[in-house]
Amino acid sequence: HLGPIQVLKPQKILRMESRTFRHLELTKSLNHEGQRGTLFSILNQTQTGMGSRRLAKWIHYPLAEVHKITERFDVIEELLQKPELLESLQKQLKGIQDIERMLGKLALGSVHARDLRYLGESLQKAMELAQNMASQFDSILMKNSFGKIPDLTQLSRELLENLLEELPLSVREGAMIADGVHSELDELRLISRDGKSVIAAMETQERKRTGISSLKIRYNKVFGYYIEVTHTHRNLVPEDYHRKQTLANAERYITPQLKEYENKVLGAEERIKLLEYELFTQLRQKAIDFLEKIRCLANILADIDALASLAKVARENNYVRPELTEEPLLELEGSRHPVLEKMPSVEHFIPNDISMNPDEQRFFLITGPNMAGKSTIMRQMALSIVMAQMGSFVPASRAKIGLVDQVFTRIGASDDLSQGQSTFMVEMLEAAEILKSATQKSFIVLDEIGRGTSTYDGMSIAWAIAEDVAKRIQCRALFATHYHELTDLAGQVKGVVNYQVAVKEWNEQILFLHKLISGGASRSYGIEVARLAGLSEEIILRARQVLAKLEDAESSALKNLNDSLVNSEEKSQLGLFVA
Ligand code: ATP
Repeated sequence: HLGPIQVLKPQKILRMESRTFRHLELTKSLNHEGQRGTLFSILNQTQTGMGSRRLAKWIHYPLAEVHKITERFDVIEELLQKPELLESLQKQLKGIQDIERMLGKLALGSVHARDLRYLGESLQKAMELAQNMASQFDSILMKNSFGKIPDLTQLSRELLENLLEELPLSVREGAMIADGVHSELDELRLISRDGKSVIAAMETQERKRTGISSLKIRYNKVFGYYIEVTHTHRNLVPEDYHRKQTLANAERYITPQLKEYENKVLGAEERIKLLEYELFTQLRQKAIDFLEKIRCLANILADIDALASLAKVARENNYVRPELTEEPLLELEGSRHPVLEKMPSVEHFIPNDISMNPDEQRFFLITGPNMAGKSTIMRQMALSIVMAQMGSFVPASRAKIGLVDQVFTRIGASDDLSQGQSTFMVEMLEAAEILKSATQKSFIVLDEIGRGTSTYDGMSIAWAIAEDVAKRIQCRALFATHYHELTDLAGQVKGVVNYQVAVKEWNEQILFLHKLISGGASRSYGIEVARLAGLSEEIILRARQVLAKLEDAESSALKNLNDSLVNSEEKSQLGLFVA
């Protein structure tokens, strides 16, 4: 059931590491909630197992060729213009079982009659779908797909005509083949079903023939079928009666006719089983002979289902068709995070406008308070690229997207202790990998790099990495940091621009505006966020005192700051800073 090997040409797909799948929560959520909160969970409105696997594949392997992506866009656009067509397409897809899964079972000989029946029904529905829909599409991809659907009407008919509607779970457990398919099978079934009435009829006939009204035809396990006549009537017994057994008051006989019947009945059950299995294997072989065509059908249905799903989601969520270009730019107006905007916890998602270009605005250095929405906007941009290149419309009011060859992400803390790697080591390994592999057409998301070490080490590494990305690689990059010192890069390196996510201070509180605005932030408001999180007033107060001292002290040398704290009366209470 495996198809021929296909070479995955790197230049034809948008490449991502598996950790990027994780960071962007493409198909699995970071907090082990399975698919909840993932891009897949939003985009998946497929109707079949084949379609949903295809969609997941598209998410993991978006395209990198304009014409291929455009073909998918055209289908979505057409389905948006023809809502009834979309509805009816999805409705018809819904009834089709996972044919692709069946292929494996079929090829490995592990299908049951029930599977074959489902296959027959699904093939029939697929053939009807093809017949009803083929002529209704104008988009090239749909026309081509429908044009390539193989004719499996004959196989479907044979499966449905030959198999019963109600089938056992296993092939050895009961009737599988329909009546009227095989004459011997029909006859055997009649014998096995109608045994009692046949014997009753024979009994009446023999009583009539012999004139013995007490004549009985019976069966026992040792002697099989016999005719019993009491000794009183022994003289009336015809010549063709052969004695089998003598009892105290009766004789038991057998006739050639009864013998023949006995052979038939006793063998019938066994023979039925054998015949049913034989006919089933013939049917299975027929289906196997069509394996290649069934695979082709499953493949096309998967594509159609995934496309219909993207159209449905685009319609329901108000997505827009992106304009694609080879130029490394990114323009998103009214851009939203596809997952977050659907979360009940987020009442009003604030859309943002973003404009990146290859010359002056390719490296966004994003500062701003904790909780402002830095990670959200960065993921949102990366997700919009993934969505666009997989052929989906995107959550924005306008989008122009320059094709990306690779998306890289370095987000959050994770360690791999079993591999002997600490959190910081993992962070640096990932950063090294990104710097080694990224090209000018790549898109990099670096969220708070250099966090897992001392402030100055971290800041220096963050600076050097940012500089390398902006100067040498020159790709589109987003770099969120709480090292506000890095905002100086904007004046020094071409392409680097400062952005911040706006907040408003109001009545000693902060209001998160979730708006990306130009310029660098000077504060992180970490203490205010800690307060919102429920840290006690004493801790907050103390943190403010320490912060005030730190800000007062010489900003150039942390050691000096430490010393100043060590000399102060807080020494005993402030173990953290007195290393
Ligand atoms: P930190 O620096 O602490 O990691 P952050 O700036 O990266 O914070 P996010 O994690 O992106 O902040 O966002 C925090 C929360 O703010 C989100 O979980 C979401 O609830 C809300 N949020 C972010 N962006 C928006 C938006 N555009 N509209 C509405 N709510 C938003």
